[in-house]
Amino acid sequence: MQKIKLQINEKKKSYTIFIGTKIIKNIQSVINCAKYSNALIIADTNVPKKILKNLTTALPIKSSAISISGGDRHKSIESVQKIWKFFLESYCDRKSLTINIGGGTIGDIGGFTASTFMRGIDFLQIPTTLLAQVDASVGGKVGINFLSVKNLIGTLQQPIAVVIDIDTLSTLPQREFISAFAEIIKHGVVTNKKYFQFVTSKKPRDFSNDELVKIIKISCQIKADIVALDEKEEGPRKLLNFGHTIGHAVESLSLTTSNPLLHGEAVSIGMIIEGQISKRVGLLSDDDYDVLEQALIRAGLPTKSPNMQTRQILEKIKSDKKNEKGKINWTLLKSIGEAVYNQQVDEGVIRKIL
Ligand SMILES: [Zn+2]
Repeated sequence: MQKIKLQINEKKKSYTIFIGTKIIKNIQSVINCAKYSNALIIADTNVPKKILKNLTTALPIKSSAISISGGDRHKSIESVQKIWKFFLESYCDRKSLTINIGGGTIGDIGGFTASTFMRGIDFLQIPTTLLAQVDASVGGKVGINFLSVKNLIGTLQQPIAVVIDIDTLSTLPQREFISAFAEIIKHGVVTNKKYFQFVTSKKPRDFSNDELVKIIKISCQIKADIVALDEKEEGPRKLLNFGHTIGHAVESLSLTTSNPLLHGEAVSIGMIIEGQISKRVGLLSDDDYDVLEQALIRAGLPTKSPNMQTRQILEKIKSDKKNEKGKINWTLLKSIGEAVYNQQVDEGVIRKIL
């Protein structure tokens, strides 16, 4: 087993992120499971049986598991009710430990369910996709969608720990693995040029396990530093929105087509368009823009949205709940490694670029 630790200090509670290999098989060496009465596993239907077997075999306490479908449309009250029922039937008490294993939505659904059952029971996050590992491990926000509004119902509750075992990535589809690199590249591009250069120095699949562990650690650290600066989400946290104003719009428009984009793919297209906006308003140099574009292409990420109309994209952006009083607040780039938030851009500029 190989592992490194990252300590996350958030207002309510601090917790550790363990990153490495073979950690699931040695879960006892990182988590004191024996102090719990039983373990209730909420497993993504996508998680291979072998990984679940490794987990249940390694646990020193009795465990029961329920399979839940991942994906945004399953972040619903129906999934939560199903899990609450499972908790009751599995003799869940205040000393039970919930273990959420799977993609980002499983962490969200499972964390929310645990944080509301009996006014909150402990939960452990085991994200098994690269996107969830670099994006959902930090922040302590758990929640579900309601009446088609994303993340409308939720709580702010930290897990007891996060376990990132990169052995889970060996069965992750190539397309999903590459897609997560959009978020990794974004972490570099908005805060840290050196990190950007490192994560774009090779194709995503060419990084060794050691390098991957390092990448996940730095990405979690960057996010944690930004989140710590900005508990109220009024400022620096918006840096993480780079690529996401356009990205969310093209992502949701693509959901109704025969070829939906993955989140990271949409963010890659968003970074290209928002990079062009940054260039057009005189913030970003031509050279830095080219570096960003080439890096995304080399990583194997898309840079163009599949035939979407400017009008549709603009309408989608305007309906985004993050906009205050109808104004669109853009996060734009000044250079590779430096971004600025709360930028106003003339709609004419956006139309021209789209
Ligand atoms: Zn994202």
